[in-house]
Amino acid sequence: MKILVINCGSSSLKYQLIDMKNEMCLAQGLVERIGMDGSVLTQKVAGREKYIVKKEMKDHQDAIKLVLDTLVDEMNGVIKSVDEISSVGHRVVHGGEAYSSSVLIDEKVMKALEDCSKLAPLHNPPNIIGINACKALMPSTPMVAVFDTAFHQTMPEHAFIYPLPYELYEKNKIRKYGFHGTSHKYVSQMAAKMLNMDIKDLKIISCHLGNGASIAAIKGGKSIDTSMGFTPLAGLAMGTRSGDIDPAIITYMMEEMDLSANEVSNIINKRSGVLGISGLSSDFRDLGAAADTNKRAKLALDVFHYRIKTCISAYAGALGGVDCIIFTAGIGENSASSREACCEGLEFLGIKIDKEKNNIHGEAADISSIDSDVKILVIPTNEELMIARDTKEIVEFNK
Ligand code: AMP
Repeated sequence: MKILVINCGSSSLKYQLIDMKNEMCLAQGLVERIGMDGSVLTQKVAGREKYIVKKEMKDHQDAIKLVLDTLVDEMNGVIKSVDEISSVGHRVVHGGEAYSSSVLIDEKVMKALEDCSKLAPLHNPPNIIGINACKALMPSTPMVAVFDTAFHQTMPEHAFIYPLPYELYEKNKIRKYGFHGTSHKYVSQMAAKMLNMDIKDLKIISCHLGNGASIAAIKGGKSIDTSMGFTPLAGLAMGTRSGDIDPAIITYMMEEMDLSANEVSNIINKRSGVLGISGLSSDFRDLGAAADTNKRAKLALDVFHYRIKTCISAYAGALGGVDCIIFTAGIGENSASSREACCEGLEFLGIKIDKEKNNIHGEAADISSIDSDVKILVIPTNEELMIARDTKEIVEFNK
């Protein structure tokens, strides 16, 4: 069974073809500048040179057609015919309250996705366009939607209700949804495997620290709280996003500084986080290199790590203890100094890192010291594989 995983953005598209016999990635690629000048596809296959195709793609259907042509290309492809693709798994950012797990796509699901677009205006519309483009080219291939929000639908009401007028939840669906669910689910399952334990017996704090960053509290394999909220802007300080701030700052900026909603949104989404504090970069490698001599770069890192520590401590409280902390995504997988800073001062919770073991990049490892009560794990995330696994399960269940 070969599954194509599609992650569609507004002008780009990532894909992977995964053979579920051994869960191996046969090919992965990126299409950029869809609908613009200079559109290009780059495909990587293990053991081969990168394959680059520069070709005009006026829309996502053109892009997906080129993906399929590339996968079956005689010289550079990995399959003989598109018929070898048994199903397609689509990453969808927002499933609202309608979906607490992945779902086989039909007309009813498409309508529900349209309804959720209001909640994720930047993300859901391209996801829908991608699904429609695939359906047009592969009309008889089953398609599954895998939602970033679904894993967090197990949060109890007291975690997802905001202290706002209740009607805003009932009428306007304003509540905490949480994101990065596919990643938190994947790494928490991997953690149980690495520890050789049943996930039902584990209290896990999963730290997905990339350009977007979120933490999830996971009890018995279920998310009970997470740091992102109604949108992926909430919670931790991120690359360019502010994370949690006093909500009155928004109205203050609008009234006192005469900024429009759009201008404020631009500040808190694109000009804040570690970029905003440092004035230097949103990339942690740049900040790490500058921190010794640049005060604001150091301050940005301190704010980032401090927020993670307070969130870990809060979630240890929410879980009633913690057995395992996971670090994943770009920073979590690669930055030993960030992992160390995130754990520093949390010894009172039984969290003790082994500095030697922590000296690794991009590989799965147990980095806790022998006398740490809490296991500290680095686990590279693999959202595409999680999407493929869900797709396989749903398609087989619906056969
Ligand atoms: P992601 O969004 O998961 O792709 O993560 C991207 C972020 O990971 C970038 O903003 C980098 O700051 C960070 N990153 C990648 N490699 C390293 C590294 N070796 N050290 C520190 N940060 C890194």
